[in-house]
Amino acid sequence: MTHSAAPLHDRHRAVMPQWLALYYAEPLELTHGEGRHVWDAHGRRYLDFFGGVLTTMTAHALPEVTKAVAEQAGRILHTSTLYLDRHMVELAERIAALSGIPDARVFFTTSGTEANDAALLLATTHRRSNQILALRNSYHGRSFSTVAITGNSAWSPTSLSPLQTLYVHGGVRSRGPYAHLSDAGFIDACVADLKDVLGQAHGTVAAFVAEPVQGVGGFTAPPDGLYAAFREVLAERGILWISDEVQTGWGRTGDHFWGWQAHGASGPPDLLTFAKGIGNGMAIGGVVARAEVMNCLGANSISTFGGSPVTMAAGLANLTYLLEHDLQGNARRVGGLLIERLRALTAGLPVVREVRGRGLMIGIELAGPDGTPSAEAASLALEHTRELGLLVGRGGREGNALRIAPPLTLTVAEAEEGATALGEALRRTQQDLD
Ligand code: PLP
Repeated sequence: MTHSAAPLHDRHRAVMPQWLALYYAEPLELTHGEGRHVWDAHGRRYLDFFGGVLTTMTAHALPEVTKAVAEQAGRILHTSTLYLDRHMVELAERIAALSGIPDARVFFTTSGTEANDAALLLATTHRRSNQILALRNSYHGRSFSTVAITGNSAWSPTSLSPLQTLYVHGGVRSRGPYAHLSDAGFIDACVADLKDVLGQAHGTVAAFVAEPVQGVGGFTAPPDGLYAAFREVLAERGILWISDEVQTGWGRTGDHFWGWQAHGASGPPDLLTFAKGIGNGMAIGGVVARAEVMNCLGANSISTFGGSPVTMAAGLANLTYLLEHDLQGNARRVGGLLIERLRALTAGLPVVREVRGRGLMIGIELAGPDGTPSAEAASLALEHTRELGLLVGRGGREGNALRIAPPLTLTVAEAEEGATALGEALRRTQQDLD
């Protein structure tokens, strides 16, 4: 078979959906990576400030992970969950212990979407209800059920779902009707909203699902304590709490191993979903739940590729590296320095409305000359960061936020290098807009 001589980005447009590879006017083809850097097909090097999409948790081509993958690939590629695999059981043991959920059981999937799908299936089956509470501006995946709990019409193109979703306030602190309130006032207002929405629900509500820090939503978070306050209301009514830790897990937020821990809740969520960083790029997702909840499903719920041996070997090596090198501590220290530098370098630029975040999960909200959210500013900033050899992510309800989530091994020197490039990219963006 012969391939056309056209550039890859033209060939991709001819055979793939129009909504892929949208970051740059001319999409980037990446060929390899090492540490916190990746290279494109022209040999240009970039500092990766997005870690894949928070998937490269430790580092690109981390020898411990690539060795585990190669060794396992040489033994057996696939067994299916009909049989046991040592790495799968060991990884489940580690995650169950880390989750804090009592009598925890772990079910592996191949993505975050599928992890949330499984959590929804468990919660709705356990509670015998198809009503779900979710946050406005949330993102939980792209399957038929997860788009139905995604609180933004841009990412949730259908309303024809078997789930009934009730949306509540709380994910975005800086905008919306409660933006002017103090932290305590914001929490009180969101709890009142939750109670009000529950008052309108018909019969049993199965679960409340939330990201501790909204990821695709632009790295926005409610004040600490919101989920503890929500939990009291939910627990009184037996409603399950699903914490979607697909982006916030594994110490990324620095101060805590899981995002929900920032809220001082009296106990862990009932279900916790994970994906992205655990495989360092290998396709692993999963859900953790108490045995009583997990075991309400029958044997037809297995996943052909969930828990596949090569991914499990990678996940185990990656998690071991993360814990042995205290990467959560590194995220806290280096992330703290990075956010300070970014604030200092962008102070006085009207295009930068806010630099926010914790650990190595930092969002920069951009605004146009009229002070409103500007997707154009984000597009310009992305092109400038690329020119300067830096990759960052994009998100936010209006597509106007830059997202920074490098591998958790980021060094202080790399943080400084990336902050300088980003400061310059935003200065150039400001000039374009002036
Ligand atoms: N949940 C959250 C919080 C996410 O950010 C994402 C993806 O960005 C998902 C779920 C879906 O994960 P995946 O893309 O692996 O299906």
